[in-house]
Amino acid sequence: MLKDFLKEILVILVGKQSEEIVDLLDGDKYINEFVIAKKINLTINQTRNILYKVSDFGLVSSIRKKDKKKGWYTYFWKIEVLKALEFLKEVTVKNLNQLKNQIKSRETKRFYVCERCNVEFTEENAMLRDFTCNECGEVFSVKSNEKLLKEFKKNEEKLENKIKLIEEEIKKEKDKLDKVRQKEIKKQQQEKLKKKQEMKEAKENIKKKTAKKEVKKKKETKKKNIKKPKNLKKISKKK
Ligand SMILES: [Zn+2]
Repeated sequence: MLKDFLKEILVILVGKQSEEIVDLLDGDKYINEFVIAKKINLTINQTRNILYKVSDFGLVSSIRKKDKKKGWYTYFWKIEVLKALEFLKEVTVKNLNQLKNQIKSRETKRFYVCERCNVEFTEENAMLRDFTCNECGEVFSVKSNEKLLKEFKKNEEKLENKIKLIEEEIKKEKDKLDKVRQKEIKKQQQEKLKKKQEMKEAKENIKKKTAKKEVKKKKETKKKNIKKPKNLKKISKKK
């Protein structure tokens, strides 16, 4: 479903020849433009023109890398899935609103038709022509809107369903981006924690070392203290 939507967007923006780009580009990693050009069988300049056009709408993004030997830049592209979906939703909502206006006008206004020429007139225009066709002289008849309204309402339902589906895809994409962000935050927190732990351990090690030294000192002094009386005792015994 997502791919169909993305293809539709590209066709709206740059035409049918760009449709296949969607099969190569995805939202996760950047793809080398030479690879894209080769796969869709266009020259690198044609490919770039398509991608630049789409990037004017912010629906693809690129990074560039310099070829150290040749000195030129190669671009790498990816689709901005969320922005693309939001763009398609906007277009579809606009279409739906236009359709709703047409339905309203068919439901509330009268239209006339020259059945011989199969030309339609609004009430105002029919009145201006005295309800008679300039071309053939036939008198206009009132147009029945039933069939048209049925068709319009069917389309209305289709567009409303489509908008729902686009919204579902938008939600999925937002959740996906959220998860990536959460992961990054978690990673950063863990790194901070690790650093803290390391600092703590380092401090503790210093403490331990100094503590050991003190204990050693104390022991040494104790030994000396013990020895002295022993010696003294010995000496005293000897005495
Ligand atoms: Zn006519």
